[in-house]
Amino acid sequence: MKINYRGNYEQIKLAVEDANDVLNLDTFYSLIAKCEKFNCSKKTASEVAEILKTTTLEVEVKVYKPKWIFSKVLGYFVKGKPNCVFLNKRKLYRDTGSITNTIIHEYVHAVDNKYNNKIIDFGHNCGAHKNTAPYVIGNIAEIIIDGYEINDIESELKLFKNVINYEIVDNLNIEDL
Ligand SMILES: [Zn+2]
Repeated sequence: MKINYRGNYEQIKLAVEDANDVLNLDTFYSLIAKCEKFNCSKKTASEVAEILKTTTLEVEVKVYKPKWIFSKVLGYFVKGKPNCVFLNKRKLYRDTGSITNTIIHEYVHAVDNKYNNKIIDFGHNCGAHKNTAPYVIGNIAEIIIDGYEINDIESELKLFKNVINYEIVDNLNIEDL
């Protein structure tokens, strides 16, 4: 299990189960490898797919309550807690597929950090969100969970690009909660 959760939110339990299922699918990695080059990254899509497939990193999902109650942030990852990904407690009432998307998005940051914690290899710190590894890979996970046929996933991913969820804002450089 690459993603663990010890809390009591049923929707997180389901989302974590789905996230682990997706991480066990070869199809998930071949879909990542087939992507066009990610923004904000010098790595090729197949290099990123390989890093994700072979990583031994395990993370634990935790919830947090943002100080600003109207925060749009869905979740985040911080270097100071390299084995955790955080979900906004106030944003848990949505499709579990969408929660899995956020978990996988944050997991991509965690794997990036473990790969080389001196630099960000495949994040979205260059001013772009669109077509970056965390967003695209999170979307691939959600589309798989939504049950699309493999043949339809690529065209579905193109549609997803246009409705990319900009609400996921996180900061790899925050050291504390
Ligand atoms: Zn992110």
